[in-house]
Amino acid sequence: MRTRSASWMELPRRVVAGAGALADIGDVCVDLRLSGRAVVITGPQTRSVAGDNLAARLAERGFEAEVVITRDSRPAEVERVRSFALDLKADFLIGAGGGRSIDIAKLAAFHLDIPYLSVPTAASHDGIASAMASLNMDGETKSIPTRAPLAIIADTGIISRAPPRLMSAGCGDIISNYTAILDWKLAKRLRCEDYSEYAAALSSMTARMVVEMAPSIKPGHEPSAKIVVQALISSGVAMSIAGSSRPASGSEHMFAHALNRIAPGCGLHGELCGLGTIIMMYLHGGDWRMIRETLKVLGAPTSAHELNIPEDVVVEALTQAHTIRPERYTILGSGLTPDAARAAAEATKVI
Ligand SMILES: [Zn+2]
Repeated sequence: MRTRSASWMELPRRVVAGAGALADIGDVCVDLRLSGRAVVITGPQTRSVAGDNLAARLAERGFEAEVVITRDSRPAEVERVRSFALDLKADFLIGAGGGRSIDIAKLAAFHLDIPYLSVPTAASHDGIASAMASLNMDGETKSIPTRAPLAIIADTGIISRAPPRLMSAGCGDIISNYTAILDWKLAKRLRCEDYSEYAAALSSMTARMVVEMAPSIKPGHEPSAKIVVQALISSGVAMSIAGSSRPASGSEHMFAHALNRIAPGCGLHGELCGLGTIIMMYLHGGDWRMIRETLKVLGAPTSAHELNIPEDVVVEALTQAHTIRPERYTILGSGLTPDAARAAAEATKVI
């Protein structure tokens, strides 16, 4: 247990969300008193969607902006971007993409001790707004604490044109707040773990809003993209308030990470978290049917079959999930037996 007396919160200073928001990049940077050189970190596809446009807009406002393309989220790539930005004497970084580019920007900015801005081109996970970066290390996805973005610019016009699967995955990541909060409450009761009522309330409300609005959330629809991206930002803010990922990451995330360890690339982060939420809600004795129905309405997978994940892999991931982050106490406790894992996955129709 931590004995720290004061908790530190780090929140983004500007959040701009709306159609055409990308055009505000120059104003946002000037408003934040940024100056000098920027490095825009973007992907091979997201470059044409956002990266080049950002660099051009910054140049119009007197910034020097260089674009660097990233292809994967590995430590070597972070180092490449860090030394590129260091050689250039960059004053700030911008991560523009679906997730990978933002993760690289977060980590490189953290190592350089300079600020970064997050410009998501899809609403597929809450990493667009959080201080947590995902990095692929030796085939495993690791969550690394860094810093919150100085600003988030979410152009919902661009986000609404991303592949529909990305947005339904983002909804899965938001819905996982339900079981993350139940796990956190359990850890508070059984382990006296630090717990923030404010962070938990914000995270729960965010997930509940997405459940209530699920029937009206449609792919390719700009107002829907706005609802989802704002919910992802709210989840990120809840994590910032808590000073940990507890409000938005519990046993369902551990299951998703275990699946990725056993069968790398078997689904999108939010899709796997969605499957995990159904099962973990069942283990908590909660309304797992509501979770399942909502994911269905949102077009997210509710069975391993839809993602071509073999049943045995699901069972194996459930039995291994508690080892992913042993210090994080959840409903998984000291682990499920293979029989219990299979029973839970079958009862919830995940297998
Ligand atoms: Zn997540």
